[in-house]
Amino acid sequence: MKKHNFSAGPSILPDEVMQQAAKAILNFNNLDLSLIEISHRSADFTQVINKAKALVLELANLNGDDYEVLFQHGGASTQFIMTAYNLLPIGGKAGFVDTGTWSSKAIKETKIFGEVNTLASSKDQGYKYIPKNVIIPNDIAYLHLTSNNTIYGTQYTAYPNTEVPVVVDMSSDIFSKKVDFSQFDVIYAGAQKNIGAAGTTLVIVKKSLLGKSGRTIPSMMNYQVQIDKSSMFNTPSVFSIYVSMLYLQWLKDLGGVEAVEKLNRAKAKILYDEIDRNPNFIGYANKEDRSLMNVTFNLVDDRKKERFEQLAKAAGVHAINGHRSVGGYRASIYNAMPIESVQVLVDVMKSL
Ligand SMILES: *Cc1c(COP(=O)(O)O)cnc(C)c1O
Repeated sequence: MKKHNFSAGPSILPDEVMQQAAKAILNFNNLDLSLIEISHRSADFTQVINKAKALVLELANLNGDDYEVLFQHGGASTQFIMTAYNLLPIGGKAGFVDTGTWSSKAIKETKIFGEVNTLASSKDQGYKYIPKNVIIPNDIAYLHLTSNNTIYGTQYTAYPNTEVPVVVDMSSDIFSKKVDFSQFDVIYAGAQKNIGAAGTTLVIVKKSLLGKSGRTIPSMMNYQVQIDKSSMFNTPSVFSIYVSMLYLQWLKDLGGVEAVEKLNRAKAKILYDEIDRNPNFIGYANKEDRSLMNVTFNLVDDRKKERFEQLAKAAGVHAINGHRSVGGYRASIYNAMPIESVQVLVDVMKSL
């Protein structure tokens, strides 16, 4: 039986993407060669990365004259460092809204480079909410936000209005709902949650922002070098980039971000409705800040844990345990998750 994969990351991929990726490992483009044994500078792979970049700009509705699309190594975690290296001038300050583990990690790394002004934090309530009406000072080099908090299941519905550049970690909700991407200056996302397989990280950079930090930046960490070399300063993650290209094409064919948003809202609704209806469960995140991607909840009576988990397992429900720092349950229902699988989980919850 195929599992219903609620894993938070690496996470579910669309069947078609998996089929095509598997085929390319064996014989790519009928070359009688594998995708992972040909040069990244070959015409066949150059087409892949160029197509992936074009799809990103199209889905984000951004202009390629202003923004550059990069596929980087090192995960979203390396972007915690790269953003600071490239955007935080010596002696400058960065502003952060701390909405959980990933924001905190980004803050920790940025402090290596300079001063961090934590403008707001929801730590006081176990990161159950998104701080509102945060005052953004003008003396910060940039504001850093985490759009969706994978561990706690909270998500921004509206972003702060500010004149300063905005950097956003969209690892767990990129292309899941319509967002005005032009309000951001750097957008980054590890591919393994919503746009592919682990091994590559999408970075979208507003080009006019670069070259101002006054730092000597190692080549691999330097956005301008990566732009000049079209993400090929060194050998890129060819397979992961290919999977992302297929995923983005799948998303486009589905009708793009607007179409997937409708599906994502429908999936989240049936699950949250059940959490709110069923006296056995209680949601973790505050209602108004609930994530469409990571649905966090707890059992009211822990004595039902064993039975619930047995029922889930018997139904083929995979990976709904909450993050070790929060406990309880977390159902990650990313773009590729079919509503039928969410319904299976809802049925399990009903049967408890
Ligand atoms: C998973 C995750 C990360 C870390 O991603 P890596 O690619 O493993 O470095 C960072 N931010 C958010 C919001 C995440 O969900």
